[in-house]
Amino acid sequence: MTHFHDLGLAKPLIKAIDASGYTTPTPIQARAIPKLLTGSDLVGIAQTGTGKTAAFTLPLLHQLLDYDEPVGARRCRALVLAPTRELAAQIEENAARYAQNTKLRLTTVFGGVKPRPQIKALEPGVDMLIATPGRLMDHISTGALRIDRVDMVVLDEADQMLDLGFMPTIRQLMAKLTRKRQTVLFSATMPKQIRKLAEDFLTRPVEVSVAPQSTPIERIEQDVQLLERSEKRAALRDLLAPREMERAIVFTRTKHGANRVVSNLEKDGLKAVAIHGNKSQNQREKALAAFREGSVRILVATDIAARGIDIPGVSHVINFDLPNVPEAYVHRIGRTARAGTDGVAISLVEPGDRILLRDIEKLIGRHLSAFGAELEIPKDAKRPGSGGGGGGKRGGGGGGGGNRRRRPAGNQAKSGGDKPRQGNGKPGGKPKAKPASGESGQSKPAGAGQGRRRVRRRKSNATRVGS
Ligand code: AMP
Repeated sequence: MTHFHDLGLAKPLIKAIDASGYTTPTPIQARAIPKLLTGSDLVGIAQTGTGKTAAFTLPLLHQLLDYDEPVGARRCRALVLAPTRELAAQIEENAARYAQNTKLRLTTVFGGVKPRPQIKALEPGVDMLIATPGRLMDHISTGALRIDRVDMVVLDEADQMLDLGFMPTIRQLMAKLTRKRQTVLFSATMPKQIRKLAEDFLTRPVEVSVAPQSTPIERIEQDVQLLERSEKRAALRDLLAPREMERAIVFTRTKHGANRVVSNLEKDGLKAVAIHGNKSQNQREKALAAFREGSVRILVATDIAARGIDIPGVSHVINFDLPNVPEAYVHRIGRTARAGTDGVAISLVEPGDRILLRDIEKLIGRHLSAFGAELEIPKDAKRPGSGGGGGGKRGGGGGGGGNRRRRPAGNQAKSGGDKPRQGNGKPGGKPKAKPASGESGQSKPAGAGQGRRRVRRRKSNATRVGS
């Protein structure tokens, strides 16, 4: 088994890792860190929850320690791009923790807040800058940031950046950077455009992939309740009321839906907070802080707002609405069962959403409802992009099969041993009926040690693959 002290990281970083309570590197860390320390480019196929943030921040910080000179005013040496401000803030939080015993300067820039404090923070120059693409380009265009000394670039959650329409910005930026740089790309999935991006801008990258999607999902008990739309409010309350529901994230399809769920829960005596795109940065941060510290144990979120958020100890994910895109289901349920813990994901499925359930089952390669292939799909069931997407307006009043007789709720299927397949996996084995359980266990590896300092090796080779 690999230990952190075998990876060649500098002592101050090892000390910080110890203080974080990490003892053993996660598989992506054990494989990516040694490669990145040699200056190699890397494509990492890994979801959040696998420890990927430390997998790229630690070797970057290590290499930043090898510079003797400060980078210079309004410049940065390592640039980490993240799709959302929450993810950017989270990366900075982690990186700052790992860099706590060093004098390295880190800062974050993202949209939705005033640019002035960011400009001030960039002024003296920073070692590592974590940024969302839009605000980064703003700072570059006003001259608040110069990118002529960027030696290392990380594109984190590249598939999400693609989904959010950042690809032209990323390409524009990458084309402007010096060719003598180390480039790292992390993505949970590898759509064609991301492969092409890697071919165009990475130099003979090493590819490291950790059991994509299967490892966290295997530990998640996935349950489905088939019910009418009118029954969902009460079902949610019943799910959230028991004490064993330690910390739950409830997903809705729309911002209004999220607000409605919070207000209904509060009427039912359950404290909850919401994060979505209509909330100010300040409100989002406050809500996340309350959830993180445990003063509120229910967070209601839309997909974009929750993407990449890492909150330890989320015992349950509840899909109040199924997502329109099946991949979003995998991202949502990945909020639980992080860093080796178990988790439960429960989806409330109204008749009109059964077709979405089918698509999800196809993606993960297993039946979630006990009805499996016999699941009756009503006429008004929606496919992604066929009306329910984007604005996410639900078809008015009695939509969703209002007078259909209720199927028995609580058909549950546990992930069990059969591995979910990525991509077009075929529905797998028979679902097993099993009652929902609320337990979640911690398992953190043990034993860390001393770090050996390695000399930074710069890449001399600047050929681009496929350019
Ligand atoms: P990430 O995939 O980077 O979002 O990390 C998921 C969670 O795992 C975060 O809460 C990290 O703090 C935690 N983590 C990262 N590396 C380790 C490790 N080696 N041992 C235990 N926990 C870790």
